[in-house]
Amino acid sequence: RAAAATVLAALNALTDTVDTHADELGRIDAVAGDGDHGIGMRRGTTAALRAAVRAHDLGAGAGTVLVHAGDAWADRAGGTSGALWGTILRSLGTRLGDQDAPDAEAVARGVSDASDAVRRLGGAEVGDKTMVDVLVPFADALTEAAAAGDPLTEAWQRAAVTAEKAAAATAGLLPRKGRARPHAEKSLGTPDAGAHSLALITRAVHGVLP
Ligand code: ADP
Ligand code: MG
Ligand code: MG
Repeated sequence: RAAAATVLAALNALTDTVDTHADELGRIDAVAGDGDHGIGMRRGTTAALRAAVRAHDLGAGAGTVLVHAGDAWADRAGGTSGALWGTILRSLGTRLGDQDAPDAEAVARGVSDASDAVRRLGGAEVGDKTMVDVLVPFADALTEAAAAGDPLTEAWQRAAVTAEKAAAATAGLLPRKGRARPHAEKSLGTPDAGAHSLALITRAVHGVLP
């Protein structure tokens, strides 16, 4: 169950990076939103990790671990981002299934499914200043690198760089979705909180890929 162990390591890394950056995420969300993004992400990642450990201990494969983690995240985090992150983990897990060593193309398909599901659930498109502004280019970059024959770690590295650039670029956008929309002008010059946390997470996960 190599892939299930990698999923656990990834959720550990993701919980650590959210912990480290929780105050910063709250400050960014407070510029035009309600300031709870750090708190919500902390609750979500902690619950997801706990559920994942439990599923892994019971012998679950990677996909099943991810689905349990996604359910726990959505249940416990609260907020818009909690529901959307729950969907990301569930979609990825459903597409990957419990195969033991998914390659770059399999992971890219899972991330693309997650990106489609987030757009379906939240109704945001690229340019609305949400996590979608990072998720879509991240999924596209991963798909492209995988199709070009990059192994998983290299493909993910290229996509993570794309995600970081895309998150920084949201500073120039006006929010058209979520709580930040009524305070749109205030948010100009600050990146979107959910876009920034997603980029941090793609970077953290890169460190644990086989
Ligand atoms: P809340 O807005 O409920 O307080 P969070 O603060 O945890 O939840 O998350 C806010 C982030 O959620 C935003 O920065 C944005 O990236 C993301 N978000 C909000 N609404 C949407 C949406 N409709 N589609 C995609 N992402 C969204
Ligand atoms: Mg918020
Ligand atoms: Mg909130």
